[in-house]
Amino acid sequence: MRFYVLLASLFTGLIFFGFIGCKQPETNALQTPLEKSNYGSLTSNADLIAFLLQCDSLQPDIKTAFYDLDDGTTMPLVFVTKEDKTIQKLNVLILAQQHGNEPSGMEGLLMLIRDFSEGKHAHLAKKLNLLILPQCNPSGAERHSRRTAEDIDLNRDHLLCRAAETRLIQRIYSQYKSEMTIDFHEYYPFGSAWADFGFRRNFDIQLGGLTNINVHPELRSLFKEAALPFVKEKVEKENFSFFEYTLGDFPNDKRLRHSTVDINDGRQSFGIAGSFSVIVEGMNGRDSLDNISRRAQSQYVTALALLEFAYLKADDIHKATTLARNELIEKQEMVSIRMDHFRGNAPLRYPLLNLRTNTDTVFLVEEYHSEVVSLLDVRPPEAYLIPKRDTMLSEWLKRSGIDYQEFMPNNLKVFVYRINAVNPGFDEEFANLYPDVEKVLVKNFSADDYFYLPTGGIFKHKIVTALEPQALYGLASYPEFEYLLMEDTFPVFRVEK
Ligand SMILES: [Zn+2]
Repeated sequence: MRFYVLLASLFTGLIFFGFIGCKQPETNALQTPLEKSNYGSLTSNADLIAFLLQCDSLQPDIKTAFYDLDDGTTMPLVFVTKEDKTIQKLNVLILAQQHGNEPSGMEGLLMLIRDFSEGKHAHLAKKLNLLILPQCNPSGAERHSRRTAEDIDLNRDHLLCRAAETRLIQRIYSQYKSEMTIDFHEYYPFGSAWADFGFRRNFDIQLGGLTNINVHPELRSLFKEAALPFVKEKVEKENFSFFEYTLGDFPNDKRLRHSTVDINDGRQSFGIAGSFSVIVEGMNGRDSLDNISRRAQSQYVTALALLEFAYLKADDIHKATTLARNELIEKQEMVSIRMDHFRGNAPLRYPLLNLRTNTDTVFLVEEYHSEVVSLLDVRPPEAYLIPKRDTMLSEWLKRSGIDYQEFMPNNLKVFVYRINAVNPGFDEEFANLYPDVEKVLVKNFSADDYFYLPTGGIFKHKIVTALEPQALYGLASYPEFEYLLMEDTFPVFRVEK
């Protein structure tokens, strides 16, 4: 320090400050592209790649892989791992920016990856292998749009897997069988219905757990009883506001509930395969840069809190996921294929920002539909038979990354659903189809014409939900697959014991 002071007496102030600026460790620390722009521009896809390569070069525990997409953008995957064969670590898959106009999760994760590159939070790698996809939708990010350049909403595509981006996410998930997943989003509280109402949600962070009723109860209670209070405390300590992820058309006096139970989103699709999965919803800005410093910081703090939780509770998460997956593989329990949210025992105390006084008002919400109840269960078959000539189905099977066989075991007892009528249904606040079906024995079929898809693995719930004609969130609920219900019989067969 004395050295610099001496120099200062010899040179002008300008040179002095310039010199100090280069030598001080604080200002020399690696900045994310957003920080470097002084929060004036979001990190572009090209800046993101360059920044990650820099982090990779600084730290042997960081490795990056890059996947080039057809539109010319690149999807990066960052591994933060420390080789240690003596301990079984948790694989934690972290996704951000599946929705291109929700950039704060990506910006927060870059701050975290920067920390790792500087050797901070090094204890986490003793128990966790991190797989980070900071920008799942680069083409949407470049245009600040929710959907990809191909007009696909990635977080509604985890069953159909039409987008290359979703197929990649699912492939990475299947390869590492991640015990925990974290999916970063942003919610938009500035809609006109709320403005007219005069109040709005003002939580920096909302955190959501698994709600699909097929998810193992241990995984659901691990969220409610352990993760939620832990993260709440950590986030609030850093002066960010926090609430459990809750949504609904409250201004129009409709029910509030937790978010969708549909398995086409990342969180539930991993959860029904036995992962401990959460979704983080930061507060979006009025535009892409509005309040971006606070938005990125709140996501960074939440990511760290969740990883600290995973580190401290690694054994509990491992136990719960092992239990869930063993039951998926071994037990032939009923699978719920239709479910809905219903009113729970207690009303919700819901703090909203009064837009006139700029203070919080707590509402007592009676129509708080916190409970998910099954409306229809089916017993899973041993396997499904998928007709090869049905190109829509066989292409879906190939895209989805689920293991199936070309050959067929002998002496199968095979059933088909006869479709007696297709009735309109209305569940989870949307119109849907609810066919009336009857199971009948198939006496003759040519085994060569079918793929054999066994159900006894971690993807059992996904397969059963996809392929049962009455499933609320099955393939037949998508317009391109509605034809499955339009014949006299459902084209997919069930193999039973
Ligand atoms: Zn989103």
